[in-house]
Amino acid sequence: MFINERTKPHDLLLYEALSARTALTKEEFRKFKTYKNGYEGELMYDELFDSIGHDNILIYRDVFLNIDNSVTQYDSLIISDKGIISNEIKNFTGNCTVRNGNWFRGNYLIPNNAFSQLNRAVGKLMELRNSAKADFNVAGKLVFPNDTFTFHSDDQSNWDKMILRSGIRDYFHQFNQPGITTGNRAQYISRLISESIVENTFFNPQTDKTRLKFGLYCGNCGSFNLSKKRFHLTCNKCWCTECNETHLLRAMSDYKFLFYNQPMTRNNLLEFIDNDLHHKAISRALLKHCYVDRKGRKTVYTFKYYDFDDALKKSDVYMRYKDHI
Ligand SMILES: [Zn+2]
Repeated sequence: MFINERTKPHDLLLYEALSARTALTKEEFRKFKTYKNGYEGELMYDELFDSIGHDNILIYRDVFLNIDNSVTQYDSLIISDKGIISNEIKNFTGNCTVRNGNWFRGNYLIPNNAFSQLNRAVGKLMELRNSAKADFNVAGKLVFPNDTFTFHSDDQSNWDKMILRSGIRDYFHQFNQPGITTGNRAQYISRLISESIVENTFFNPQTDKTRLKFGLYCGNCGSFNLSKKRFHLTCNKCWCTECNETHLLRAMSDYKFLFYNQPMTRNNLLEFIDNDLHHKAISRALLKHCYVDRKGRKTVYTFKYYDFDDALKKSDVYMRYKDHI
């Protein structure tokens, strides 16, 4: 059973917000594609796991663990009474060869060695177990959910550490057997993990405000050319209509990831949306969708939701003014 939701990674949300408001540099575009591709691989993995079933195990998805004062990210952690397995999900495509421990795509050397990443992640879990003086198995696999990926290696031991798409179903099936249980030991491991979860400490974007286009944009086609109605904005390019509140939720979510950990005030948000809506509408939305922190004469707002998608799921914005996309 999945313990937590899988959400889009912070970096992907940053690049989505950035690309909506400015032209990305080549390097930014490359990173955007990498994060998007990685996330799509994780969704493929979840879907395949769902299709096989995972009632007999506990699965943490995309968590950051602080173990002995260093933070490591895990794509998927599978817990049962037998122990814990880290799955590093790699949405690789095409031909990959491992020679002398180095990864190559054609003759191009891939900088990150996936095996050393996995070894480090598994090593940190062992540290966690040892410092708790506990006794359970710790293991790890690289999982490649994309069926266009092929792998060649001169070292047979590599194959023990990886699961290709053709073997994923069998791999997941082994967790869906009557002998696999989540009794006291699994609950203990789960508690160790949940006590170690921290926020993503690596995310610290330094967005240059001056390169951003301010304003509200269409959720369907991205155009900033919108016509104002009383409660709605209609796109002049694709005629999609979204209510003011939807636009404000999108703007607040963009603001969160572009200026992470920087305080959001009403004036910041007004500037960010280029005064496209009346300041009273902004105040109402801020009070409804943010935590309010009054600091002397300054009031700072923190978005209540993880991101725009989460906000749409949790808020009642659709109930009153329906969007038409
Ligand atoms: Zn549009």
